[in-house]
Amino acid sequence: MKTNFNINNLVRENIKSLKPYSSARDEYKDATSDDMIFLDANENPFENGVNRYPDPQQNAVKDLLSKIKKVDKKNILLGNGSDEVLDLIFRAFCEPNKDNVITLPPTYGMYDVLAKINAIENRTVLLTENFQPKVEEILDKVDVNSMVLFLCSPNNPSGNSFSRKSVEKLLNRFNGLVVIDEAYIDFSEEKSWLERLEEFPNLIITQTLSKAYGLAGIRLGVCYASQEIINILNKIKPPYNVNELTQQRAVDRLQKVEEVQEEIIKIKGERNQLLEKLKQINFINTIYPTDCNFVLVKVDDATKRYNQLIEQGIVIRNRTTQPLCENCLRFTIGTQIENKRLISVLTAIQ
Ligand SMILES: *Cc1c(COP(=O)(O)O)cnc(C)c1O
Repeated sequence: MKTNFNINNLVRENIKSLKPYSSARDEYKDATSDDMIFLDANENPFENGVNRYPDPQQNAVKDLLSKIKKVDKKNILLGNGSDEVLDLIFRAFCEPNKDNVITLPPTYGMYDVLAKINAIENRTVLLTENFQPKVEEILDKVDVNSMVLFLCSPNNPSGNSFSRKSVEKLLNRFNGLVVIDEAYIDFSEEKSWLERLEEFPNLIITQTLSKAYGLAGIRLGVCYASQEIINILNKIKPPYNVNELTQQRAVDRLQKVEEVQEEIIKIKGERNQLLEKLKQINFINTIYPTDCNFVLVKVDDATKRYNQLIEQGIVIRNRTTQPLCENCLRFTIGTQIENKRLISVLTAIQ
């Protein structure tokens, strides 16, 4: 249990004193009663399914997530993709041109982009050769203006999960916020950090419906944190940041989690077969362990192989310019037919 942590020391002054915009639907929340007449929000009264503003608190989606993930609703905030959630974290806690965040390359590119957009210094500490966090070096980089540490686990693009011991040490010893980006957790053999949420008042977990849940097109990201942190983020989020169509499609999908589970099992099965077949490709020198729906491999010449695949109509990700990823390519796991085609092209270009 982490004690002596006070979130108020991290919130920007302008956010502390902010009185949030109050939307029409915030003021009258019980919008479900059928006998009410709504003349408050200047909407068009003719029903077409989306003529009303969406629920600003996305209660139907949160009820389902709360049940599936076994987290209290008051610990959940939803965003227009996890990218919006990450941006809200910057804007609530990082003072432009003063504060800094810490990230561990090679990792998800949005942390650095968001730092730049928000005029926040991004202090980087490379992962080890095995793509694990260097705990002592990270803590050495911390100063009084280090507000957020981003841990992507399982990590994109390497595919591995971070050691639980290292993550726990960082949660205990870093007194800023620790964001664990769990975009790929549903493919992982490791447990989510969600069950430890109550132990660490500085922990924020982000997840998404874009990967395992198969809903990248609707843009729905999820943030789990203490009620205090959620309240602060709620204060600054745009009132209707998750649109009605997104909420409806998310509810449909979350009511059928068995289908999601079946797809995850299929993808993991395909992943294991692909990993076996990749061993036969002689220009692949390393196949990195993966807890995700993608695999990183090191080849003889990444750019040459990337171009050869493009010529054959297969688009993959060339990660060769990323630190520790020289000559690395990232393959997403596709359908059985797509993966077979990938293997046959890789075999043909040897
Ligand atoms: C894909 C991905 C996301 C997802 O972002 P959304 O905005 O929710 O689609 C977040 N983090 C990582 C590491 C990812 O790879």
